[in-house]
Parts: sequence; C-alpha cells; structure tokens
Amino acid sequence: MKRLVLASNNPGKLKEFAQLLAPLDLELLPQSAFDVSEAEEPHSTFIENALAKARHASSATGMPALADDSGLCVEALGGAPGVFSARYGGEPKSDAANNARLLTDLADQEDRRAHYVCVLVLLRHAEDPQPLIFEAEWHGEILREARGSGGFGYDPLFLVPELGLSSAELSAEQKNSLSHRGRAMRKLLERLPQIS
Ligand code: IMP
Repeated sequence: MKRLVLASNNPGKLKEFAQLLAPLDLELLPQSAFDVSEAEEPHSTFIENALAKARHASSATGMPALADDSGLCVEALGGAPGVFSARYGGEPKSDAANNARLLTDLADQEDRRAHYVCVLVLLRHAEDPQPLIFEAEWHGEILREARGSGGFGYDPLFLVPELGLSSAELSAEQKNSLSHRGRAMRKLLERLPQIS
C-alpha cells in the first residue's frame, strides 16, 4: 500500500500527518487533491465519524483511505465539546471562536481536566469489512488564557502538566511524541507492514 488518501482537509492535521509519515515509503495525499468534498459527520461518536470520513474518501477516489476523527473532551463539561470540537464556537468553524467559547464555559470551573482523543480508521477499500482502528488519548488541563503559537485548534489552551507548557508552546516533534494523534499513528505504523 504505497498511496493513501487522507480523509481530511484540516491544514493542522495534514501538517502533523506529513511529519509523522515522512520516514516512510508511503505517499499520503489529501482528499482535496482529488476534489473530494468534506464528508458529513452526523454521528455522536468519534469512531462512527472516522469510519464515515474514510468510507467517503475511499469511495470517491477508489484508493485506500485514512481518516482521523479527533477532538477535545473536558471532564467538567461531561466530555464536551467532543465530536463537536471543530464547530464548538459556531459556524463558520473557527479556532478562535472555539477557544473563546471554551474559556467562557469554564470561567467559574476549578476542575480544568481535559483530554484529546484521536481515532484513526484505515480502510483498504470502500467496502472493506475489516477496517483497522487505532485510538489514543492525551491528558492535560485547560488554561485560563491562551499561550503559544504552534499547533492548531485548542493547543494554546491545552496545558501539558508534566512540562508546564501549552501544546502550542511545544515544537512539532515534541507534540508528535506526546499527542493523541502521534500515539495513534505509531500504533498504525506498527501494524502497517502486516497489512496487505
Ligand atoms: P475533526 O476534523 O472533525 O476531527 O475535528 C477535530 C477538531 O478537534 C479540530 O478542529 C480541533 O478543534 C480539535 N483538535 C483535534 N486534534 C487537535 C490537536 O491536536 N490540537 C488542537 N485541537 C485539536
């Protein structure tokens, strides 16, 4: 499997995937390269949305597809924004609006615990009855104000407690070594040689 379509148009994710896959003899092509529209994400779980995205990209291109459905789950908000992370601040989706809403929703909250979730789905073809699924979490806390300019999404508000830094203050390499996406990708990469 030398060529894979990535079922995402999120520039932040695309950059991280390119870095994670750089050492491999594998070409990861964004679905935008094939004019594939964004898939609907109507489901209430990450896994269902990841499957829908991978199936959409694979059936539109005829290629194997990798999808990432990810988000931020905040303990004090019962797991929100969760699958609604990309649009938490309303339409059109915007990282600034999402972060502003998160700060407002947690304004009076002492419990700042949160975790990122990443679910990766690899479909060898659109009708693949045995998708490969890899999942990982990254635990931290929500800051009271934004810090740093790296990463994307909620990174300026996500404190990595063991480092005392926000995930937007980490280098790309540091973030990939710790993050939900980096960990899920390493699980996938371990399996890749066995996948025909
Ligand atoms: P998706 O494209 O529907 O999976 O939405 C994922 C959303 O979750 C993104 O738009 C971000 O708001 C958030 N998110 C996922 N991973 C990260 C990350 O690594 N850093 C910051 N925000 C993230």
